[in-house]
Amino acid sequence: MQEQTLAIHAGYEKDAQGTMAVPIYQTTAYEFRDTNHAANLFELKELGNIYTRLMNPTTDVFEKRFNALEQGGGAVGTASGMAAIFYAIANVAEAGDNIIVAQQVYGGTTTLTGHTIKRFGIETRYFNVNEPSQIEALVDEKTKIILFESITNPSIDVADFEAIVAIAEKHNIITCVDNTVATPIYCKPLTLGCDIVVHSASKYTTGQGLAIGGIVIERENLVEKIKGNPRYAHFNEPDESYHGLVYSDLPLPLFTLRIRLALLRDLGATPSPFNSWLYIQGLETLPLRMKQHSSSALKIAKYLENHPKVKKVNYPGLESNSNYALAQKYFPKGQSGLLSFEVETKEEAQAIADATDIFKVVVNIGDSKSIITHPASTTHQQLSAQELIDAGIPAGLIRLSVGLEDTEDLIKDLEKALG
Ligand code: PLP
Repeated sequence: MQEQTLAIHAGYEKDAQGTMAVPIYQTTAYEFRDTNHAANLFELKELGNIYTRLMNPTTDVFEKRFNALEQGGGAVGTASGMAAIFYAIANVAEAGDNIIVAQQVYGGTTTLTGHTIKRFGIETRYFNVNEPSQIEALVDEKTKIILFESITNPSIDVADFEAIVAIAEKHNIITCVDNTVATPIYCKPLTLGCDIVVHSASKYTTGQGLAIGGIVIERENLVEKIKGNPRYAHFNEPDESYHGLVYSDLPLPLFTLRIRLALLRDLGATPSPFNSWLYIQGLETLPLRMKQHSSSALKIAKYLENHPKVKKVNYPGLESNSNYALAQKYFPKGQSGLLSFEVETKEEAQAIADATDIFKVVVNIGDSKSIITHPASTTHQQLSAQELIDAGIPAGLIRLSVGLEDTEDLIKDLEKALG
């Protein structure tokens, strides 16, 4: 089936009621046939619903549909994009381990990896996403995951998948891609040799800024990389917290299953059924919306490129952009709706953001409504001066999330604000 058809139908089998829209299963728990049935479900002898912290039929449709769009082997929904990223890391790393992360990532990912997990004893080693060869020197036997964004937020760089995957394969390390900005419509990292994809579903997935959520998706046959791999001993040894279960022996998507059975069980950042339903509605129109976000962003990038007050425009669809060749290689059909541009000073950037009408000053992306953000004073405010430089965020940088309004209206709005 083609992508647009999957976006509308994948993962939903109608029940006896024949309900066309996916029902919202708003429930905390599920009745077992009897105690034997309950015991079988807990022992994984049978698969079925136990408790909504672990699974829910509405969330199941969201997971299956997103998994189909990413061409994955299994998925688990989470309560936020940050929970998805944390669970992907926590699923493989423990105190004494290290992870390798691109410098150019969303500010929350920088604080999570640079500060919060450091307190759990996990070290983060950073590499410049524009120089993937730096990864080689950072790897040792305690390295558990390499994490990067397909299109970075807000520096709008493009990851060189081939170069990163080659190093990861050489050392048998799991790669994890935050594909929030590119979306599966423009980039499918699992088909490019990556192992795990994470998303903030709060962005293009809902598409209208309606809810906070996330998802972790694994590639098919990830077990091949994990089975017998000393880096991932806990997948190959009995899990004492789950009656001696050995994940790598299961004929199931083991990475997301472990997140479900161990991390959702113990930490509980589960999506609500209603929010999962919102993501399902969003996915139905994702392919159509992304075309408009992307074509409008390209027109705006071209307009900004010729404006005398603009020092630099970061949009990989521009031929002048240093990421153009990589973008053509990995997502030639479109480069999404996120761009950033640089003006001289922080004050000038803030004045421009304050002077727009249609572009709203908001810290979000991927909404149908256009958004203007000054990252250095908001999303990335907690970063040190050095971290800001490393993340490619000068004081005069402005980020635009181009919405679905008429492109000419958006350009006029920017024209007025730039003066
Ligand atoms: N990843 C990216 C690229 C983001 O832009 C964001 C949020 O802005 C996140 C992850 C975090 O997602 P959430 O806000 O759903 O926790």
